[in-house]
Amino acid sequence: MARYLGPVCRLCRREGMQLYLKGDRCYTDKCAIDRRHYPPGQHGQRRSKVSDYGTQLREKQKVRRIYGVLEKQFSSYFEKAERQKGVTGTNLLVFLERRLDNVVYRLGFANSRSQARQLVRHNLILINGAKVNLPSYLVRKGDVIQATEKGRNLPLIKDAMEAVARRGCPSWLEFNKDEAKGQVIMFPGREDITMPIQEHLIVELYSK
Ligand code: SF4
Repeated sequence: MARYLGPVCRLCRREGMQLYLKGDRCYTDKCAIDRRHYPPGQHGQRRSKVSDYGTQLREKQKVRRIYGVLEKQFSSYFEKAERQKGVTGTNLLVFLERRLDNVVYRLGFANSRSQARQLVRHNLILINGAKVNLPSYLVRKGDVIQATEKGRNLPLIKDAMEAVARRGCPSWLEFNKDEAKGQVIMFPGREDITMPIQEHLIVELYSK
């Protein structure tokens, strides 16, 4: 499946909640969820009964869309999560949180994960002083994430760093605004993932 390039607000409407895919706009009254709180499409306003499978599938799609991950990648995270010790659902979310594009977004270098992915792809992010252009890179404890000098002067990054106060930086990351530098101080815990996600539904879906 190719990456989705259509209108992203449709994805939020499909999932019935704000997924914060559009950066600043998501915090304004232009948010499509506030205006049209029903699924997109001709039959969006119809009431229909959702099966257990449908609920599980929607939960998986929701998480996939929040993190902007393709189906194949997502199922490979699930396989890895299953092989690890601990709760599979939590392991899965921790893998997704550790992705470099997510970390760049969480630290406030970008206003959305898709913007963060672009910064990474364009070689504007350094990890421990070296350029890394893989959005799926999984950060480790102690990794230092920094924008390149060119990146630091970009209005996009400057504006995003101003706006981060609204979202706040999670406790597993440390951010030094003056140096435009962040560090992973520990792995995220389940409590650090504040979006309403029912990961057990995803585990049930993949366990069928
Ligand atoms: Fe989703 Fe943001 Fe669009 Fe609102 S503005 S529907 S949160 S992408």
